Amino acid sequence: MRYLFEPPVVPTLDIAGSESLFPVRRIYCVGRNYAEHAREMGAEPSREPPFFFAKPADAVVRGGGAIPYPPCTLDLQHEVELVAALVRGGTDVPQARALDCVFGYVVGLDLTRRDLQAQAKRKGQPWDMAKGFDHSAPLGSIRPVSAGGHPASGAIVLEVNGSQRQKGDLRDMSWSVAQIIERLSRCVELAAGDLIFTGTPAGVGPLRVGDRVSARIEGVGELDVTVVAPAC
Ligand code: MN
Repeated sequence: MRYLFEPPVVPTLDIAGSESLFPVRRIYCVGRNYAEHAREMGAEPSREPPFFFAKPADAVVRGGGAIPYPPCTLDLQHEVELVAALVRGGTDVPQARALDCVFGYVVGLDLTRRDLQAQAKRKGQPWDMAKGFDHSAPLGSIRPVSAGGHPASGAIVLEVNGSQRQKGDLRDMSWSVAQIIERLSRCVELAAGDLIFTGTPAGVGPLRVGDRVSARIEGVGELDVTVVAPAC
């Protein structure tokens, strides 16, 4: 048996303090997990169950760097998020054992074509083209749990060209990482290599070509991205 063509390269992330790479299987994202952000998006924050969407694994941009401004939008926006990187999974993972699935944590950007998302919401259409485009998931280096545990609090901050745009604290997440894993694993089987974006704090806004984005999460790491003109 041989492939018709070379199979796609597996997307990977760096691991802080290690030569190994983390191979990415799937990317899940949680919507509206900070009350202040839910309000700024025009939703009433509540303890409704978390809802999920996905990005393709090859939307990963390892280590950030230059991100081309995507097509089909006039409103690319930043969302800084704590991302859990799983080393094991399963179905119906109980909350009490959920954190055993996490290998480490990493700073990620859930880049969003906000105009397409608004249109999809209006028309009751899927979010895929708003969230799952090429280069839509830049991520830093994974900080292993063995090096820093599971962060329950700490500042999550994003600056554009040196000005603070987003600021929150991990303790303000409506649903914890353990609760998210429990809920998500009821719907799909989770496995090693899965990434879970856990939602963004308030202050999301537009990015333009030339913008320098600097994101950091206390005790987790940093991520730097520059938005560049698309290659013609
Ligand atoms: Mn998000």
